Amino acid sequence: MVISTQNYIDQIVKGNITYLSRAITLIESLKESDKTKAVELLNTCLPFSGKSIRIGITGVPGVGKSTFIEAFGSHLTALGKKVAVLAIDPSSTVNKGSILGDKTRMENLSKDTNAFIRPSPTGNSLGGVAKKTKEAIILCEAANFDIILIETVGVGQSETLVNSMVDFFLLLKVSGTGDQLQGIKRGIMEMADLIVINKADGDNIKKTELAKKEFESALHLYPLKENNWFPKVTTCSSLKNIGIKEVWNTIQEFLKLSKSNNWFQKNRNNQNTNWLLQSINQQLQDDFYKNKSIVLELDKLLIKVKNNSITPFEASEILIDLYKNKS
Ligand code: GDP
Repeated sequence: MVISTQNYIDQIVKGNITYLSRAITLIESLKESDKTKAVELLNTCLPFSGKSIRIGITGVPGVGKSTFIEAFGSHLTALGKKVAVLAIDPSSTVNKGSILGDKTRMENLSKDTNAFIRPSPTGNSLGGVAKKTKEAIILCEAANFDIILIETVGVGQSETLVNSMVDFFLLLKVSGTGDQLQGIKRGIMEMADLIVINKADGDNIKKTELAKKEFESALHLYPLKENNWFPKVTTCSSLKNIGIKEVWNTIQEFLKLSKSNNWFQKNRNNQNTNWLLQSINQQLQDDFYKNKSIVLELDKLLIKVKNNSITPFEASEILIDLYKNKS
């Protein structure tokens, strides 16, 4: 059945999840014939977007991300909020992806009529996967979702990509065997607005409190963020639903500050600017390497560069000139 763009929009703004799902499938499609419709759909949805709170959630596998999202998402829907869960899974570029692949994850949230859970799109590059997720945010916002949770596995570049599309970044941790901070990348600590130490239950409570103190003192070594927010550390048990309410309270505190000092809007504007520039870079790069004359000449010049018969700089100039003349 062919669905018109207007039909999609009418149903999406009514919050029809089936249509929202279909629309996301359309924007994720790699088929050339779907591309024009996807662009039309996104452009029509754009004026209805922007009103949600976008929250990034990262943590290594096993830290309890899905258990946390189940508890946190259910807390939010109980408050009357509509919650969408999206994911960026770096492994989805290699195989079918691991995040959200299992339907038994987030069992209650997946049955909740005020929640929408979408697995990570698959793609050829992490950047491509992230772009699809960024576009899915627009559709979810047009469908009146109040809060968008974007989950990613804490490995590689995916946190930076998630951070480039959210208002608030939450890092999930568990207490370790003593040195909590070992193995945590400086960049991730710098991005975090809140560190939540999960599994604060049973025998783990003492260790978690200790970890909290360690993270708090480590955070003091970082300069104050541009938005004047001092990152916080809390503990929770996603399994026992303890400390979940406090996470939401902290996020609200953050929103109050960042909206009052205008950083909220400034951050979104900066994000859009960066996405525009990145998108230009990506398209130019794709177009360049797809160009048949470039492919041929590049092979020849690579050999010359290897033989030291031409410098890499000269070779690149030849290629750029060729590209300019051929396109
Ligand atoms: P993910 O890989 O980060 O999504 O982690 P999961 O949510 O799948 O959780 C990994 C394991 O940790 C599961 O066995 C969960 O039951 C367990 N887990 C998650 N949260 C908690 C918690 O708050 N307390 C305890 N004790 N176990 C938890």
